[in-house]
Amino acid sequence: MSSSAITQSRPVPVSVSETLPWLIGALLFGLVLYYFIGIDEGATSVFGNSMVVHEFVHDARHFLGFPCH
Ligand SMILES: [Zn+2]
Repeated sequence: MSSSAITQSRPVPVSVSETLPWLIGALLFGLVLYYFIGIDEGATSVFGNSMVVHEFVHDARHFLGFPCH
C-alpha cells in the first residue's frame, strides 16, 4: 500500500459559541420529550385535564418503563 492511499483524519475545531445554542436546544427538546412521555398525566397535564398527550405517548411510556397503571 502506498502512502498516498492512506487518508489521514484530522479533528475539526468547533467553537463553543457555535455549538452552545444546539446543545441548549437539544437539552430543552429532551426535557420536553421526557416530560410528555414520562410525567404528563392527569392533574399535571399541560393541556388541562385531557389525556390526549398521555394516550398518544402511552406505548412509548410503557416501552421506556415509566410507571403508568
Ligand atoms: Zn399504561
